[in-house]
Amino acid sequence: MPHSRRELGKALVPLRVAGFVALACLAILALSGWREWESREVDLRNAEVDMANLARSLTQHAEDTFDLADTILTGMVDRMEIGGTTPAAVAKIQTFLQARKYNRQRIRGIFVYDETGRWLATTEEVDLAGLDNSDRDYFRRHRASNDRGTLIGRPVKSRSGGQWIITLSRRFNHPDGSFAGVVLTSIEVAYFTQFYRRFDIGPNGAISLLNADGIMLARSGDEDGAYVGRDMSQSQLFRTLPGRPDASVYYFKSPLDGRQRLSFYQLSSRYPIVILATKDQDDVLAPWRRQAVVRMAIVTSLTLSIGLIGLYLVRYLSQRQRMAAALVAKEADFRLLAEECSDVVMRIGLDARILYASPSCARIFGWDPAKLLGTPALAGINSEDRPRVQHAIDALKSGEAEEARIVYRTRHREKAEIWVETALRVTRSSISNEIDGVVAISRDMTEQKDLQDKLASLATLDGLTGIANRRHFDERLEEEWARAKRDGTSLSLLLIDVDHFKKFNDQYGHPAGDACLRALARILAAQARRPGDLAARYGGEEFALLLPNTGAEGCVEVGERVREALRELSMLHALNPPSRLVTVSLGGATNVPAQAMVSDSLVAAADRALYAAKESGRDRLVMSGQVVAWPGAKTA
Ligand code: GH3
Ligand code: MG
Ligand code: MG
Repeated sequence: MPHSRRELGKALVPLRVAGFVALACLAILALSGWREWESREVDLRNAEVDMANLARSLTQHAEDTFDLADTILTGMVDRMEIGGTTPAAVAKIQTFLQARKYNRQRIRGIFVYDETGRWLATTEEVDLAGLDNSDRDYFRRHRASNDRGTLIGRPVKSRSGGQWIITLSRRFNHPDGSFAGVVLTSIEVAYFTQFYRRFDIGPNGAISLLNADGIMLARSGDEDGAYVGRDMSQSQLFRTLPGRPDASVYYFKSPLDGRQRLSFYQLSSRYPIVILATKDQDDVLAPWRRQAVVRMAIVTSLTLSIGLIGLYLVRYLSQRQRMAAALVAKEADFRLLAEECSDVVMRIGLDARILYASPSCARIFGWDPAKLLGTPALAGINSEDRPRVQHAIDALKSGEAEEARIVYRTRHREKAEIWVETALRVTRSSISNEIDGVVAISRDMTEQKDLQDKLASLATLDGLTGIANRRHFDERLEEEWARAKRDGTSLSLLLIDVDHFKKFNDQYGHPAGDACLRALARILAAQARRPGDLAARYGGEEFALLLPNTGAEGCVEVGERVREALRELSMLHALNPPSRLVTVSLGGATNVPAQAMVSDSLVAAADRALYAAKESGRDRLVMSGQVVAWPGAKTA
């Protein structure tokens, strides 16, 4: 069923548009989000590279510094082992150290202790007597171990200056290889701290110098030494350090301040030290975050607008669809009504042309509805009725009336003219409510009209003879009397009575009597030649001929023609001597009615004349006012 599938497809259009808009919005958001994530990653990568470079340089720097200290140490060990710890040798060394006032910024001081921890010589200006460093950790470790390598100890507070120092020490031996004492160089923690201050690592970044055991040697920004000596061996980095590469990016949450850090650590290949250069991840991402927020706000508002426009579109579409469906349903209803209706439904435009004609048009008017479209609606209407129809339509169009009902004659394509009854009603534009045409519902009422006409004629005709009955005669008499009175013309009346009709009936039977009356009626109808003349059965075997605009002479003439015609018919009537044929007596009266006169006077005059005709021998015409000669001289 491709049709219903298409319908279904149409119904799904708003849903599809909604899906597409939602997808487009999601895609825009996802793409932007992805782009932002990418640029975040780029920023992080750049920061990692910065930190790696920094860590490498600072490792180099620390190694150089320790190299310098170590060179001094090895030289001092040599001197002490060659010169021994005799007072003279020690005095020489002391003089040598005191004389060496080189750059104390880097190597703060040089110290020599004997095997008991007593101070033998130093670059510091202190009184050596009574000073004992045998309690120091590095001293105990050198004394306990034969290792002649350099020991980088924990930072300690200087006994001579009170500041934090990092110590590098070596043991020196007696000629027999036993422990003879310790040579020590000190580097001020502040030296590193001040050096690290030169690098921009953000407000929350840090550069830390630690020994391989996780003891903090120096930390940037740590001017008062709060971090120095802190044991970081339990931190994540140091716990996992053995399994790690010598240098790597390292992300962690700082145990010191709880902030997320991006860092790079570098283990020195020459000394057991680690440089950890860290930046605060928030600091790194702050510029990105600011821009991303702005960009995402713009993208989101854009997407929101697209979404809203889409939503509006979808609502508009589905509303249109609902309206269209309603319209289709309405149209279908209307078509069903119009097309199943036995009446003809037509829509007529303001230009009086047909816009629509229902199928029953073919049955009622004989025209194919399609052929009628665009043709003038009043084309086939009888010219006598057309003004009336036109008037009704004009009244509707001008708004004088909302509906009208008219009956008129119109042409049928094949049959003769038909009678049509049409109900008209104005239609209005659904938009402006202005009248935009007329709906006409028409039905063929020819049969009703014929029936009506038949009924009407039944009411006016005599059943036996088919000419006008007494009632119709009375009406016409009144009309003609009034017209004659108005126009001042003369009106004549003939009353006709069959002679000895009772005997005719008796002789030939009632049916023959009826036939005789019908024959007479035909004669009378034939003699009523003018359009206004009226032949009527007045009652029983008595007839009347009403002759408008006819004088007495004309009246006599017509009367005589009736007698003549009857004679020619020669109907046998044995009991009507002397002719033994059917004869009639006629009473005529002519009048130019005066104002005060009533029509009854004309009838009475004719009736008197008829009576005179009977009395004077029958089979004759007597006019009112005529002197009748025979048998009894009477005036009608
Ligand atoms: P006159 O010459 O004086 O007119 O005599 P008449 O017999 O014609 O007059 P009367 O009025 O006495 O009789 C009229 C008769 O006409 C009586 C009735 O039987 C007859 N008649 C009236 N109407 C009809 C009718 O419709 N059919 C038939 N067959 N006879 C009718
Ligand atoms: Mg009679
Ligand atoms: Mg009679």
